[in-house]
Amino acid sequence: MALGFVFFLSGDVAFAQQNKNKIDQNVQSLLSKMTLEEKVGQMAQVTLDVITKGKDRFSSYEPVVLDDKMMADVFGKYKVGSILNTANNRARTPQEWYGIISGIQKVGKGRLKIPVIYGVDAIHGVTYTAGATFFPQQIGQAATRNLELLKKGAQITAYETRASSIPWNFSPVLDLGPDPRFPRIWETYGEDPFLTAEIGKVVVKGYEGDDNNVSSPFHVASCLKHFLGYQVSVSGKDRTPVYLSEQALREYHLPAFKAAIDAGAHSIMINSGLINGVPVHADYSILTKLLRDELGFKGVVVTDWGDIENLYQRDRVAKDNKEAVMMAINAGIDMSMIAYKYEPFCDDLVALVKEGKVKMSRIDEAVSRILTLKYQLGLFDKPLTNYKDYPKFGSKEFEQAAYQTAAESITLLKNHNSVLPLSKGAKVLVTGPNANSMRTLNGGWSYSWQGEKVEDFAAKYNTILEAVQNKIGKMQVNFVPGVSYKMDGKYFEEYADRMEEALQAAKNADAVILCLGENTYTETPGNLSDLYLSELQTSYAQQLAQTGKPIILVLNEGRPRVISKFEPAMQGILMAYLPGNFGGDALADVIFGDVNPSGKLPFNYPKFPNSLANYYHKPSESRSVVEGVYNYDADYNPQWEFGFGLSYTTFAYSNLKLSSNSLSADDELSVSVEIKNAGNRTGKEAVELYVSDLYASITPDVKRLRAFEKIELKPGESRTLTFKLDKSAFAFVNRENQTVVEPGEFEVSIGGLKEKFNIK
Ligand code: BGC
Repeated sequence: MALGFVFFLSGDVAFAQQNKNKIDQNVQSLLSKMTLEEKVGQMAQVTLDVITKGKDRFSSYEPVVLDDKMMADVFGKYKVGSILNTANNRARTPQEWYGIISGIQKVGKGRLKIPVIYGVDAIHGVTYTAGATFFPQQIGQAATRNLELLKKGAQITAYETRASSIPWNFSPVLDLGPDPRFPRIWETYGEDPFLTAEIGKVVVKGYEGDDNNVSSPFHVASCLKHFLGYQVSVSGKDRTPVYLSEQALREYHLPAFKAAIDAGAHSIMINSGLINGVPVHADYSILTKLLRDELGFKGVVVTDWGDIENLYQRDRVAKDNKEAVMMAINAGIDMSMIAYKYEPFCDDLVALVKEGKVKMSRIDEAVSRILTLKYQLGLFDKPLTNYKDYPKFGSKEFEQAAYQTAAESITLLKNHNSVLPLSKGAKVLVTGPNANSMRTLNGGWSYSWQGEKVEDFAAKYNTILEAVQNKIGKMQVNFVPGVSYKMDGKYFEEYADRMEEALQAAKNADAVILCLGENTYTETPGNLSDLYLSELQTSYAQQLAQTGKPIILVLNEGRPRVISKFEPAMQGILMAYLPGNFGGDALADVIFGDVNPSGKLPFNYPKFPNSLANYYHKPSESRSVVEGVYNYDADYNPQWEFGFGLSYTTFAYSNLKLSSNSLSADDELSVSVEIKNAGNRTGKEAVELYVSDLYASITPDVKRLRAFEKIELKPGESRTLTFKLDKSAFAFVNRENQTVVEPGEFEVSIGGLKEKFNIK
């Protein structure tokens, strides 16, 4: 048996090697036949709108008609190698996608029969495919702490992306989201490097398969983004300057990318912004020295949207397009996501090669990687798939997984006097701008970039209001908005919508389900000037509280907006994040007790707009260090900490034991702990292990998450979990930017229990 297994493994390895050799040969042979213009074309990526000439880009519902004349343009002189996104900002059925992509492949393959590689941002399901299964956005996914479930979600998304004939997914986002002011935090797995890395690894395997065999018609190539150090700008606004030491880059931002590269990810997208004044798209030390030489990344490096043009138009490190192209390609970019006008990129790159300013070897290297990816994806043999071969697309089975992910993401933040779950006999008022909107449940990248088309596909799914009505019957549910969003493209404008009537209705209800949060946006439109939840929503919550009725606050938001002005007046608080198409059902199940909540915050929920420390902050931010001093409000004092999340049952932790209290850095440390369900409902608990390095040559973080596991326990049931820690759990990046373990005192903590140990 053992022998057979060994034989099988080595047979597999041999096959993979043979396959690799064959791909290398094919790539070299193709390269030798390509003109410079054809090579440069492979390095260009444009949006589908370029082919359709961007007709009515933001309004039209007409079908995409690709006539040969339009395509001759894009696939003529330069034969663009890649297309992305959709046309007319509209989702298409898998059947329509089949039509679009077969048209592209027919004309696009040209003289040398090189297929086009199509890519989309399938970041919580296939964004631009009608009928696709939409999961919670990444921030909610992280709250589940359930790696198995998240891997399954990634497999489903890969399946449905391929069902749309699309083989390349610009996902996952492995940026950290440590700053709630930043508009894209909901696209991240939250503030923690370890959690992000652990999820990143399983999601890459979910997309690409355990063996990263992306030629499978059920797998897609993943694209890690946005390398490196995005989402931590000083201003808190999108694509504005970041200042970070190399130490911080390596300590916090690099681990998740490294883990996902080691997990075999096939491509990576670059950070659109500046770090220490240098646009990352022009930074050789990040794109080549770090990514290629140090991390050994072999896949394709693609720019973000128009970011080569940005080097001169926005960031002004290049005086014109040509210089921008030179800088980016020489820094290590393989493919330019140009978006619209591809000719200047191609013309300039051809000229630069002829002038000797970009070496031919750099072009060959980039094109080899792009062609290799196309071979690996099997596109030369099968440039498109047939939606008919994907019977599970949008199936009940897939929807159930999306529902389950939503249910496990919902995080119970407050349950005063066990107000939750509500009785199914209760009369409720459902209110607030997020109460009856599929758009806000889904967030951005849903059917269209800004999610503004969600309502066109919403009939099949339940808003929070509809799900509550289904659960307890329409007769028991009153709905008055109270506050509504203006839907004219101004993302955060709101108006009082029958507020007096809502306040009256509250008086006649047993409880109020108040659904607040943000309206949907994607990227820069979500820049904020104030982290407090809007004045109108705040004052509405305060007025509702005056009725004396119990209020269940549902927060439907992709980042934590500050609610400390009215939080004390709320009896129950549920964080829903952006839970996707099944978020309404999942919320109703939690509110009325059919599901026991088990989500845990993937970030610190701040109490004040100026108190944005992360859970892994430095000791000087915690009040314990400045005992007796002075303004506690401004001290480290989050509304709720990373990892917080209540249940309808209680879990008791005991017997924290270490395999040794004194070890050397290379020893493995086993940590065991017993968890008992001490309440009377079955529940799931994410058990989290933190390590604190108590003294170090760089001021240590107060604690760092180093292991976690989600388990389910019946009432009275207990289980002992054992975590095995290696030296990566004790290490940090020192002043010389080296990852080291320094001898000294450490502490392990799980569920409030603590135990010290020494490293010799
Ligand atoms: C975003 C990327 C995305 C790309 C393509 C950009 O604006 O920053 O995350 O992959 O657009 O849609």
